[in-house]
Amino acid sequence: MALKVLALGGDGIGPEVVDAALQVLEVASKSIGLPLDISEDVLGWAAWERYGTVIRPTTLSKAHASDALLVGAVGDPKWDHIVIEGGPEDQDGLMKLRHELQVFACLRWARAHDALLKRTAFKPEVISNTDLIVMRELCGGAMFSPTRGIDESGESRRAYDLNEYTEAEIERFARIGFEVARRRRKRVLSVDKSNVFMTGKLWREVVNTIGQDEFPDIELTHLFTDNAAYQLGCRPADFDVILADNLFGDILSDQSGVIAGSLGMLPSACLSQLSEGRSHRPAIYEPVHGSAPDIAGQGIANPCGTILSVAMLLEYSAGEPDCARKIEGAVDSALNAGFATRDIGGHHTTQQITDEVIQQFNQM
Ligand code: NAD
Repeated sequence: MALKVLALGGDGIGPEVVDAALQVLEVASKSIGLPLDISEDVLGWAAWERYGTVIRPTTLSKAHASDALLVGAVGDPKWDHIVIEGGPEDQDGLMKLRHELQVFACLRWARAHDALLKRTAFKPEVISNTDLIVMRELCGGAMFSPTRGIDESGESRRAYDLNEYTEAEIERFARIGFEVARRRRKRVLSVDKSNVFMTGKLWREVVNTIGQDEFPDIELTHLFTDNAAYQLGCRPADFDVILADNLFGDILSDQSGVIAGSLGMLPSACLSQLSEGRSHRPAIYEPVHGSAPDIAGQGIANPCGTILSVAMLLEYSAGEPDCARKIEGAVDSALNAGFATRDIGGHHTTQQITDEVIQQFNQM
C-alpha cells in the first residue's frame, strides 16, 4: 500500500522548503521500495488569497484520509489585521489542522551538528553531543483556550487567555513522552510552574503518576520552567526528552534551535498516537520555524528542518527508522562537506543543499 502524503507548503518560505523535502522523500522512498501517493494543496494565507479561507473543507477531508502531512509554515504579515470568526483553531490553517487531527504530541528534535558547533552562540564544548527532544503539548492550554478575549467594560481594558488542562490531556501526552524516551536514552524531564500555577500542580502530579505506574524504567525529573530554560543553556547535553505544555514547549523548542545552529535546522513530528515507535493515525511533520517573510521567494531558505521532518515522517508514519537515519546522515554529510545556507553561515541556495543531501544519500 502506498503511503498517503498530503503536502501543504503554506506561506512565505513554506512552499520552498516543502518542495525541497519532497525531492528527498521521493528519492528515499524509492530506495526502500516504498510507494508514495503524494497530493499537494494550499494552506494559510495562500489559501485565503485563492479561496477566501485559511483551510478548505476538502483539504481537511484529505488530511483525515492521509497517513502523513508535510507542512511548510503559515503566516503573512500582510494579513495580520484579519480576525476570523470562531475559536483560536479557526484563526490559522495549521492550528485548524492540529486541532482537527488532535496531534497533541509534538516532538521537536534538536541536535548539535558537528559542522555547526563553532557557528552557534554557545561554546562548542557546552553543546557538543546534545541530542534532545522538546515535547510540546500541542492541542491544549492557553493557546487553544476558548476562554479568551478583551473585555472593554471596565476602566482599563482586560485581556485574558485561560490556561487549562484536564487530567486526561496531560495523561495522553505524558504517555507518548515516556514512550519516546523508552526508545532513546530513557530520561524524561518534565517542566512546569507548579510553584505558581494550578495547571502546573496537576501537570506534575499526573506526569509523576504515569511515570511511576507505567514507566518505572524511565528516569523522571522535574524542573520549574524558568530553571529549565537556564539549565538548557548551561548543560544541554544532559537532556533527553523534555515534556512541556503548549506555551512552555513553544518557547523551549525555539531556544533549542540555537543549539542546532539555526531555527531552520529543527524538524518536528506531531502525533496523536504512538505504538512501538509508530503512528497509525494521520500525523503532521513540519519544520519548527515560521514562514520567514524576510527571506521568502529568494531561494535561500534552509531546507534542513523540513528534510529532517521527512526523516521523522519515514520513521513514525512509515515504520522505516533505518531510512530515517540515512537521511539524517546525508544532512550531516552535506553540512560536513561545507554546504550551508545563509542562516548557518554559508552562501548555498535551498536547491544546492537539497541536491547535495540527495547525492550524499545516494552514496550511503
Ligand atoms: P520565523 O521562524 O518565520 O523567522 C524567525 C527568523 O528565523 C527570521 O529571521 C527568519 O528569516 C529565520 N528563519 C526561519 N526559518 C528559516 C529557514 N528555514 N532558513 C533560514 N532562516 C530561517 O518567525 P517569525 O519571523 O517570528 O514569524 C514569521 C511568520 O511565521 C509569522 O506570521 C508567524 O506567525 C509565523 N509562524 C508560523 C509558524 C508555523 O507555521 N509553524 C511558526 C512560527 C511562526
